[in-house]
Amino acid sequence: MNIAEIRNIVQAARKAVFFGGAGVSTESRIPDFRSASGLYRTAQGTAYPPEVMLSRPFFDTHPEEFYAFYRAKMLHPGAKPNDAHQALAKLEREGRLAAVVTQNIDGLHQAAGSSRVLELHGSVHRNFCTSCGRSHDLAYVLESGPGVPACTACGGTVKPDVVLYGENLDPGVLEAAVQAIAEADVLIVGGTSLTVNPAASLIRHYSGNRLILLNREATPYDDRAQYIVRDSIGGVLRLLTEGE
Ligand code: NAD
Repeated sequence: MNIAEIRNIVQAARKAVFFGGAGVSTESRIPDFRSASGLYRTAQGTAYPPEVMLSRPFFDTHPEEFYAFYRAKMLHPGAKPNDAHQALAKLEREGRLAAVVTQNIDGLHQAAGSSRVLELHGSVHRNFCTSCGRSHDLAYVLESGPGVPACTACGGTVKPDVVLYGENLDPGVLEAAVQAIAEADVLIVGGTSLTVNPAASLIRHYSGNRLILLNREATPYDDRAQYIVRDSIGGVLRLLTEGE
């Protein structure tokens, strides 16, 4: 695939949208779910499969085990944005990128400077009391460990504002993502296996002919893409966005 050709398309964009997932953050040393070194393989042998431990029924019935897994596998407070996050923030600053739609919960796009980030699956940075609704930040969850964080106001159970299996996506975020994707002149999809729905199916709302897919492995949506690059997303996005 001709990188120069893809670069020209990205550089000419005026309202591109990036749609991404866990693969965007693997170069920040946050494991994804489905790669060889991803959580689904490394968590084999644990008492429950990850999709059970990260489900709402499990949170409600086994909060200690939920938090033990969540703290160990989903919280990476020392992680820093990588080249992929930085390149997308640059594209937004240059007026080429209208939004980042992400399945990630790590907050690294905002840390890199992106301001329009639609977090389909929520964020580890937001947490709320399931009894009184009071908000708690990530620092509180980290400091209150190792058990279940209790609300400072009422003692209730604090829950991360992340979408667990069995929970619905926020309708407002979903609607904004659909609109951004439908209006995009260029859709860049990357670092996602495109297997988690309804998130993955959102890319069907793009009807243009400049869908660029940046992913190491094949996805169920490859036949919709005009351009596919199977390489490190950080390196590719850096090439696509750097100046002359
Ligand atoms: P996934 O694990 O199913 O797929 C990741 C994809 O990215 C794979 O196809 C892999 O080949 C590709 N990939 C990994 N590293 C790459 C790299 N450096 N360059 C190019 N491609 C790379 O992830 P998903 O599709 O996002 O679905 C998993 C779910 O897990 C999401 O809903 C997300 O909320 C959650 N999750 C989030 C984080 C995070 O916030 N960082 C981490 C793990 C899981």
